[in-house]
Amino acid sequence: MSDVMTPEQRSRLMRRVGSKDTRPERVIRSLLHTLGYRFRLHRKDLPGTPDLVLPKYRTAIFVHGCFWHSHDCPKGARPQSNADFWGNKLDSNRRRDARVCVELQKRGWKVLTLWECQLSDTVALAALVNRELRGADDLDSR
Ligand SMILES: [Zn+2]
Repeated sequence: MSDVMTPEQRSRLMRRVGSKDTRPERVIRSLLHTLGYRFRLHRKDLPGTPDLVLPKYRTAIFVHGCFWHSHDCPKGARPQSNADFWGNKLDSNRRRDARVCVELQKRGWKVLTLWECQLSDTVALAALVNRELRGADDLDSR
């Protein structure tokens, strides 16, 4: 993976590692702030009320819990007991996520889903975010 962070960004990021508030959305906010991105929170006028929105990049970010949104990772494993109940519930979450994504894309938004399990590796996450948003940036400058 290429290093898409400037040395300053990397060192600021490293200083933040170990910060106390590890709630997923806080982690992302802090990360975006460190990387110098401007964002808005919970735009209720957009489908699915994205957790974060970066108007400049026309990108909506969702920070998903692995269990509730059925991530393909160990934390996203479905419970063995009450399998039908959980299956229905989690499938309906999944369908809603997919619907919201399509609705946003129809309106010209790019959707970036970040997962709870990605948050512990802040450096990898920063690289991912930069890569995703720079892609959007390239589209803008065409
Ligand atoms: Zn996960």
